[in-house]
Amino acid sequence: MTQSPVRTTKLFINGQEVDALSGETFETINPATGNVIAHVAQAGDEDVDAAVRAAHEAHVSGVWREKSAAERSIILNRVADLMQENLAGLAALETEDNGKPINESSFIDLPMAIDAFRFYASAARMISGQAVPLPGALTYTLKEPVGVCAQIIPWNFPLMMAAWKLGPALAAGNTVVLKPAEQTPLTALRLAEIFSAAGMPDGVVNVITGDGRTGASLVKHPLVDKIAFTGSTEVGKQVMVEAAHSLKRVSLELGGKAPNVVFADADLDQAVNGALFAIYFNQGQICTAGSRLFLQDSIHDAFMEKFLSKIATLRIGDPTQNTTQIGPVASQDQFDKVTRYIEIGKKEGATLAFGGEVLRDEERKGYFIQPTVFTDVHNSMQIAQEEIFGPVLSVIRFKDEDDAARLVNDIPYGLVSAIWTQDIKKAHNFARRIQAGYVWINTYNVLPVEAPFGGYKQSGFGRELGLGALEMYTETKNVYVELGAQAPITGWYGV
Ligand code: NAP
Ligand code: MG
Repeated sequence: MTQSPVRTTKLFINGQEVDALSGETFETINPATGNVIAHVAQAGDEDVDAAVRAAHEAHVSGVWREKSAAERSIILNRVADLMQENLAGLAALETEDNGKPINESSFIDLPMAIDAFRFYASAARMISGQAVPLPGALTYTLKEPVGVCAQIIPWNFPLMMAAWKLGPALAAGNTVVLKPAEQTPLTALRLAEIFSAAGMPDGVVNVITGDGRTGASLVKHPLVDKIAFTGSTEVGKQVMVEAAHSLKRVSLELGGKAPNVVFADADLDQAVNGALFAIYFNQGQICTAGSRLFLQDSIHDAFMEKFLSKIATLRIGDPTQNTTQIGPVASQDQFDKVTRYIEIGKKEGATLAFGGEVLRDEERKGYFIQPTVFTDVHNSMQIAQEEIFGPVLSVIRFKDEDDAARLVNDIPYGLVSAIWTQDIKKAHNFARRIQAGYVWINTYNVLPVEAPFGGYKQSGFGRELGLGALEMYTETKNVYVELGAQAPITGWYGV
């Protein structure tokens, strides 16, 4: 693995790169090596204030919201084009900062982020209201931008999360202050440069780096109109409490503990591949991770035999290599959390069927953990109920559909789910019984930008992606026009 020189990065406020006023910085680490790759500006309250004021002024001035949808669309498409032109560099930077395999950055994260900008470039032109003709009157709606949007994102898909947030907010004419996670700030800063190069007016997109204090300061700021947060359920709750003081609009995409349900009549080979992808993609650091695998009794052993023979072939190592399928987890904190849960699983009496060890050698100096499988898991165990956010699978048996429905829903989360069966009626009927915002049938982790994505229960609320995401970034104004000779209120006070 080659080591690039250590960079120093700045904040991006009002179209300018600026240092944090305090001069404070923090380090971001390459999780594959443990080496520092950049010193990053830590935005304090006064930097947050400058970024929010820049966004507020850009909103008030109308420099973005008063552009035609066609003009907004052109700039968003230019951003997508520039990302496409710089795909290799962006993918390499994402892998360096986050540790995800380069194949994933190049063929999943970047293309999906670019696709989101293209989709919302088109969607900008589809925003319209409704008109209702009434006797002697006309009433119509306007969809107006909410204003300054604070967008706070996690470290697992840094560019993709940024695109899912920025795309609809900007399409609808809002201005934004984006705060990437402290573990992975680098690609968001590169994206800010791309926005400038694409001709985005100053102040419309601001990117501020920092830790949780920066996020908290942003959430409190009186000139923020809307908060879009993706992250843990715990922090999501704090964000909502804080936002309540001034009734800021809030949308929350939070944690998950997704059920992946394999019925006895499934195509087992497909389901085995699907289950591997569900839990080990991105080292299990994905809110949609299929971390609870429900197997019908009669196929449990046959399924596990195939699954365990496949898992043993996964290539874990240097994420910059095209052949690598599993990289390190993203940080020391994440490493500690995942290894702690592996110990909890052992103590709870689950059977460690594969993995459970950390990997450390010449090639793997950073935060590498073996893909891990626990069988004989009971739904009440911590490893079945709590989000681990790592490559740890809990396998749970079930008898029949009723049993599966009860177990699957017995959890505070409800983000995504999947069903594997060849029985079309069973698939559709069971899909209705799952309390989750997304159900895959005979596939996993496929998220087309056209379809809505978001959670039930404590996985949050609001829907990203699709045209529906525009709802989170617009206010509806109704305009009532009196057309009659006599307004209906005439004479009410004897006038
Ligand atoms: P996190 O700790 O909740 O952090 C998310 C973001 O919030 C980070 O930018 C974080 O900054 C910031 N933050 C921390 N404390 C804050 C506060 N008090 N006020 C405002 N912002 C604050 O989550 P994470 O560990 O980065 O990400 C993993 C979690 O995200 C998992 O639970 C996962 O399921 C969830 N996730 C959900 C989705 C979805 O779409 N539903 C997608 C991806 C991930 P720092 O990083 O600097 O602390
Ligand atoms: Mg990093």
